[in-house]
Amino acid sequence: MVRLRDIAFFAALALMAQERPAIFRITPVRPVAELRTEALAARPPQETGDFLRSDLVDLAKLDPRVKLDIRYATTDDFLSTPVYTSARAFLQRPAAEALLRAHRELMKQGYGVLIFDAYRPWYVTKIFWDATPSDKHQFVADPTQGSRHNRGCAVDLSLYDLATGRELSMTGVYDEMSERSYPNYAGGTPEQRAHRQLLRSAMEMQGFTVYETEWWHFDYRDWPRYAIQNVPFEEIR
Ligand SMILES: [Zn+2]
Repeated sequence: MVRLRDIAFFAALALMAQERPAIFRITPVRPVAELRTEALAARPPQETGDFLRSDLVDLAKLDPRVKLDIRYATTDDFLSTPVYTSARAFLQRPAAEALLRAHRELMKQGYGVLIFDAYRPWYVTKIFWDATPSDKHQFVADPTQGSRHNRGCAVDLSLYDLATGRELSMTGVYDEMSERSYPNYAGGTPEQRAHRQLLRSAMEMQGFTVYETEWWHFDYRDWPRYAIQNVPFEEIR
């Protein structure tokens, strides 16, 4: 006999499943564990120049309503394997302050920022590149160049509704390797395109630029002034 309480339970489960964000996944070209060992043994590209001193700020401490959903610390990432050892997000101080200003402006309209990723140690960029098939390499940074994430000046984010806590629906899902990820992709619903534009406008007002193939990726204008780093989250002071 199925009791009413059970029906309510299964209905709640179904609702949760529906609300779980869609995750884009690829099959890594080689086992991630193997790639990780190689990447940890490799060295970032040598850079010359007069860089600013790194001053990475923990985004979780900016504002209680800056929400973190660090997919790379979970199996809910494009490799279906955690690549981060902790669910944290950092940006160089001026970029973190600019992000906070964007968040505060968005809050006036009932939204908050939802952070997927920010500073990324270089070896993780190498894992991503080595795990991705070459026909999809336009969606991952080349480790010989480094990523702006490695400099602590890039952030991957979306928006959530302050009233419901729910992630807003966009024209494509995070990390999706398709044309739906382009910030000028004309498909999706008018509402999804409006959400995407709201995020982009708020970020551009504060000195960020959207990446040409990813609606969720924003570079802070000072990125060339910071060096590529390979320090793990646990060693950031
Ligand atoms: Zn990114």
